[in-house]
Amino acid sequence: METKQKNIDSDARFRKLIENSFSGITLLNRDLDIIYRSPSAERINGWNMAERVKNTTKDLTHPDDREQLILLLNEVLDSPGLSKTGCFRSLHFSGHYIWLECVYTNMFNEPEINAIVCNFIDVTERKLAEIEVQKKTSQVQYLLESITDGFASLDENLCYTYVNTAIENMVGMKSENLIGRNIWEIFPDAVGSATYHAIQKAFTEKIYVSNEDHYEPLNLWQENRIYPSGNGISLFIRNITSQKNQELQRELLSLAVTQSLKEKNNILESIGDAFFAVDENWIVTYWNNMAEKVLQTPKSNIINKMLWDVFKDAIGSVSYNNYHEAIATNQAVHFEDHYERLNKWYEVSAYPSGKGLSVYFKDITERKVSEILLKELNNDLKKQTKELATSNAELEQFAYVASHDLQEPLRMITGFLSQIERRYSDKLDSKGRQYIHFAVDGAKRMREIILDLLEFSRVGRVEDSIEPTDTNKLLNDIISLYHKKIADKKAVIQYDNLPTINTYKVPLRQVFQNLVSNALKYQQAGNVPVIKINYTQTSKYYTFSVQDNGIGIDAEYFDTIFIIFQRLHNKEIYSGTGMGLAVTKKIVENLGGKIWLESEPGKGSTFYFNILKK
Ligand code: ADP
Repeated sequence: METKQKNIDSDARFRKLIENSFSGITLLNRDLDIIYRSPSAERINGWNMAERVKNTTKDLTHPDDREQLILLLNEVLDSPGLSKTGCFRSLHFSGHYIWLECVYTNMFNEPEINAIVCNFIDVTERKLAEIEVQKKTSQVQYLLESITDGFASLDENLCYTYVNTAIENMVGMKSENLIGRNIWEIFPDAVGSATYHAIQKAFTEKIYVSNEDHYEPLNLWQENRIYPSGNGISLFIRNITSQKNQELQRELLSLAVTQSLKEKNNILESIGDAFFAVDENWIVTYWNNMAEKVLQTPKSNIINKMLWDVFKDAIGSVSYNNYHEAIATNQAVHFEDHYERLNKWYEVSAYPSGKGLSVYFKDITERKVSEILLKELNNDLKKQTKELATSNAELEQFAYVASHDLQEPLRMITGFLSQIERRYSDKLDSKGRQYIHFAVDGAKRMREIILDLLEFSRVGRVEDSIEPTDTNKLLNDIISLYHKKIADKKAVIQYDNLPTINTYKVPLRQVFQNLVSNALKYQQAGNVPVIKINYTQTSKYYTFSVQDNGIGIDAEYFDTIFIIFQRLHNKEIYSGTGMGLAVTKKIVENLGGKIWLESEPGKGSTFYFNILKK
């Protein structure tokens, strides 16, 4: 080592050269101790040879760079002639680190040198500037990476020079697949889009452009801000898809709301009822077409107005009170009201809601008027019926009294006529006797009529009570009553298994008696009467029929025969007063039934009557 040093020292020329060299030169032995430091090296480092013992290369190197330096030196140590370059921080004598760019060369193969030669220059300034730039760049990069917006820079060929992670995520491509490639080559389907035009504009006109666009293939809504930068552009892309979707949803929702409002309006307009709605302050918020019509108030006069300002005359009305009650109790109300001003009746339903009242109503004036009319009519009818009943009762009373009171004088007439006939018959000529006979006959007929009238007026006077009545027995009685007549005519009367019914026995017997008597009477001379009595029943009625094989009745008289004193025959042919069927009808109707007949002249008649079951 000593020898080598001497050799170099001896070469004054080279020494001078080295000592004046701009770069520092140190020589290291195999232990990497500094065995020589050129004056320039001492100038750069501030250290001189005197301190060399304590200052090995390793010690002087910044702890963070040491490992890298050792690696490099070990490599150099192993290969004679090998040169390696590195940049390390080295401790300056003043106590701070300086950046040295070093070239280490293994010159152990050169016996004159036999060391690692380190040639270095101070690059602190450059390095610090570099670090500063790097710091700044990484700050910017950090910023660009940390923003959620996408950022890309494109050069003069619109090729990507930088993309941040947000862009990578947005387009689903790694930056290495984007950098260096033209934007339209990557996204050919965007050519011609709004974004395409915006980018081209910013790029060619060198102006700031912004736009919003939907990129179909990625289903991406983007908000672009494009700045010209250098010869290229910087592109900020914000993913506004979710915001757009929300907007879209809001739009759809508002569309749906409008639609449903429209539908609601349609419903409210199309319902036949009038409808209006008021808020909690009685301000009218809705008034449908029907309400316009029914209350003769156009929408323009009422919407947004206070209901009671427009309908002042209804304050205190039935409607007014009911609406207030509905709101106070929070319960729907249904009522009818007459509105004086329009002279109309309304049927109203009002439903309270937290926010006011919904009112449905319709004009029921017509119905109401007919109801009132009907009521009046009913009252009239009741009055008339009452009057009729009174006059009927009076008439019956009159008929009863008249027929009763007439009997006495009639008896006198008949009695005295009989006396004249008896005492003076020899003094009378045949004409006189005939007149008396006519008078007696007339009096007899009158008596019959009076008795019938009496009977007719008695019908309905409840003198007996309902009792189980065996109709077979009833007919047996009647047959024995007409025993002689039946025998004379050889009449056949058929009935079997007739029911026992709950009714007034006496009137029912009267009915059968009248019908059987007519069936026996209204027969062709010489004809053998055959009379059949039958019955049917429903849950409500018994229907009896009395059928004969008599002379029959023309249909045109089916009603007439039931009228009092109406007869179809001369009394000389068939005796009678014309009262029988009138009495019969009155009794049947009193028992809650009806009487009718089927008949044809010459073919006999069937009289039917029904009796309400009790
Ligand atoms: P009257 O027998 O006293 O005349 P009715 O009131 O019993 O009165 O009968 C009214 C009329 O109806 C009779 O005059 C007769 O013409 C007709 N009529 C009643 N019953 C029969 C019958 N079974 N067949 C034919 N005609 C009848």
